[in-house]
Amino acid sequence: MLKAILFDMDGVLFDSMPNHAYAWSHAMTDFGLRMEPEEVYMNEGRTGKGTINILSNRFWGRDATDDEVQQIYDAKSALFNTLPEPKPMPGALDLLNKVRAQGLMRVIVTGSATHALLDRVNAAFPDIFSPELMVTAFDVRHGKPNPEPYLMGLRKADIQPSEAIVVENAPLGIQAARAAGIFTIAVNTGPLPDSVLYEAGANIVMPSMQHLADHWEEKKY
Ligand code: CA
Repeated sequence: MLKAILFDMDGVLFDSMPNHAYAWSHAMTDFGLRMEPEEVYMNEGRTGKGTINILSNRFWGRDATDDEVQQIYDAKSALFNTLPEPKPMPGALDLLNKVRAQGLMRVIVTGSATHALLDRVNAAFPDIFSPELMVTAFDVRHGKPNPEPYLMGLRKADIQPSEAIVVENAPLGIQAARAAGIFTIAVNTGPLPDSVLYEAGANIVMPSMQHLADHWEEKKY
């Protein structure tokens, strides 16, 4: 018995990943850590510190110091904030309206840590989400690929894993959702091959949010 759809945010509800990929790869390169945009997509959902340490170990042979992490993360954030505001993902509003019309709960599960998140979400998707059904970086100790964010989403909605579906775009997010025991639809909104999303554990891979919205009623999950 399906009761809720749990939505990741970056790369699912907002077309924000190109900005993240640009900002991460340029900021890292400025510090001598060469990061291709595709690697940003592979690590999407990891903490800033975790991402920086993958690169620092490869190029410097050691973890970055706390100062270095802060400097690189600040440089990434500063660059990100110069970029145009990410737009809602095409098809996302269509899908959300269909899900609401079915009487299903809508839950956001994001690793993002923005206090203005609900304002942005409500501006783009009016009357869809409520603050009680949002999981952000402030709610959890362990980020994706740990299942904690999705388990927290189930708890906030007061439902079992079998009563939910997750919509995700990133390998680490898919791993987190599957580790929480939830059926997971991947939408491939970035440059990674479908095979990477299947290998992460996706039950289905769809080519876009618009495609998922257009075919939503045909599916019997
Ligand atoms: Ca994402």
